[in-house]
Amino acid sequence: MDSISTHSYQDLDRRTLWHPYTRRSAVEAAPLPVIVRGEGVYLFDSEGRRYLDAISSWWACNLGHQHPRLIEAIARQARELQHSILGNLTHPRAIELAAMLVDLFPDDRRVMFASDGSCTVEAALKIALQYWWNRGQPAKHKFVALDFAYHGDTLGAVSVGYLPHFHQAFKPVLFPVYQAPSPCCGTCAFHESPDQCLNECFDTMRAIVREHAHELAAVIVEPLCQCSGGMRMHPAEHIRRLAKLCADYDVLLIADEIAVGYGRTGKMFACEHADVWPDIVCLGKGMSGGYLPISAAVVKASIHATFGDTPEDHTLYHGHTFTGNPIAAALAIETLRVYEDEHIVSRAAALGATLAAELAPLAAISGVRNVRSLGAIGVVELEDDAEGTGSRHAARVRDRLRAKGILLRPLGSVIYVMPPLVTPEPVLRELVGAVGAAIRAV
Ligand SMILES: *Cc1c(COP(=O)(O)O)cnc(C)c1O
Repeated sequence: MDSISTHSYQDLDRRTLWHPYTRRSAVEAAPLPVIVRGEGVYLFDSEGRRYLDAISSWWACNLGHQHPRLIEAIARQARELQHSILGNLTHPRAIELAAMLVDLFPDDRRVMFASDGSCTVEAALKIALQYWWNRGQPAKHKFVALDFAYHGDTLGAVSVGYLPHFHQAFKPVLFPVYQAPSPCCGTCAFHESPDQCLNECFDTMRAIVREHAHELAAVIVEPLCQCSGGMRMHPAEHIRRLAKLCADYDVLLIADEIAVGYGRTGKMFACEHADVWPDIVCLGKGMSGGYLPISAAVVKASIHATFGDTPEDHTLYHGHTFTGNPIAAALAIETLRVYEDEHIVSRAAALGATLAAELAPLAAISGVRNVRSLGAIGVVELEDDAEGTGSRHAARVRDRLRAKGILLRPLGSVIYVMPPLVTPEPVLRELVGAVGAAIRAV
């Protein structure tokens, strides 16, 4: 593609397209790169520039771009059956995928599919609500969530994952939720140690659950790492304690593994670090390797068992047009096979060890507040102040890295990498080196 067509695309883009999570000033300041091709861990723009996809295209492309087996899975399924509904019908790919997902859990489960992560969170919340209704306890209809949680952009998900800087305008229509403090792992100035932080935060959580158990449907959390809320990492002990608390007080636990599942933390699911298997586990993002939207709520069979229709109708009247779409399901099946054949989860763990080692020296750079990592999530958090100096610094780092062929997207003053899990080690080292150099340079 030559530069004339690049300009005409950029012009048409400005006149017609509404970009998600993008400030108007950013669109007006400079034309956006037009990404025309992906290959391995790289994206290419219409001018032929190559970029390392250091955030796996919003945490989805764990297997990189143009994986031949995933391309073939799309083509094969598209030739056979591109869509058929799951309402009073079924099809092989949805069945096979559900069975493969259930096999990843130690207990018996049922799988409700959706397309985006947010939709799966909505399904999980509704399943939790109706579960208690089915059981004749409709008073249990409230949720507990953590501060700094993010669970998606539909209104139910925003209610349990309210981030003021994103969601203020919607506050009047959100349903009320009990908020418990989110442990910061000792990165804030208020706690003497990560343990003290965990204990204090958990004391509040325990008090809320104890006091309100009679009206609580579920606690919802992102296990081990709150991603959009600033890559806030928690010890596995947090989810372990939470699972026990919920079990003790007869409250469901919903784990939102949409970002941290599928190997990102060095285990298939983040909850595995604590050997905890929550009542409902939400999956998304990496499920189809980053090729098509598909998500799932993987629900304990004992919960599903209450959704009968005799003597009373307890059917879950919930679903989307493309629930369990065969092409997306075929991709998700092939993704799991690639995970197995290419040892993606153990590679992610190895990548995580390298990432931690490479990041450590960056803690000494002036202006860096904290360096942390969890599996293949690496964070360099900059010092910030009320004027947002750290966020502006991070934005300059982002721009400098983009000019050097690396795409990332800081969250305020939090610079993070979440590279594809297939990133070669030397490329990962170069990436961290470039991040360090950019922080020093700007
Ligand atoms: C991205 C994300 C979601 C929402 O998923 P979408 O596919 O963007 O709707 C929900 N929860 C977590 C933890 C996420 O990171």
